[in-house]
Amino acid sequence: EKQRWAPILGAGTRDTAGATIFDSILDGKIPADVVYEDELVLAFRDIAPVAPTHVLLIPKRRDGLTQLQRATAEHKHVLGHMLAVAVPAIVAKDGLDSYRLVVNDGAQACQSVFHLHMHIIGGKALTWPPG
Ligand code: C5P
Repeated sequence: EKQRWAPILGAGTRDTAGATIFDSILDGKIPADVVYEDELVLAFRDIAPVAPTHVLLIPKRRDGLTQLQRATAEHKHVLGHMLAVAVPAIVAKDGLDSYRLVVNDGAQACQSVFHLHMHIIGGKALTWPPG
């Protein structure tokens, strides 16, 4: 049976931007291949992976964080949690010893979903620089 997530009440309510596809994943309306979850964040495999590991890590409550440049001091806890707790757990789960962490911040940087998310990309030799 498909796992359904509890509704995330109030997600995005402080944003002028509307709900995104990630709200539909958070509230269980569309399925996702979840690889990590805790009280603050959800991580799931990207539907269009660019590498063997391509995971998206999102805060469950967007709380004004449509994109990284909107972050304020009140977001320090969730941002630190993403970097210091969730990313290491996801990287360990996929057994990665190298990976790339990407935030596309703004439309010109190819951000398409305006609910903050980190891409964790790895499992193959990556190239640099990005386009
Ligand atoms: O950084 P950006 O906003 O472009 O990243 C959005 C990501 O969300 C894309 O990599 C896209 O493949 C992914 N996505 C997804 N599942 C959806 C819609 C988008 O994994 N249903």
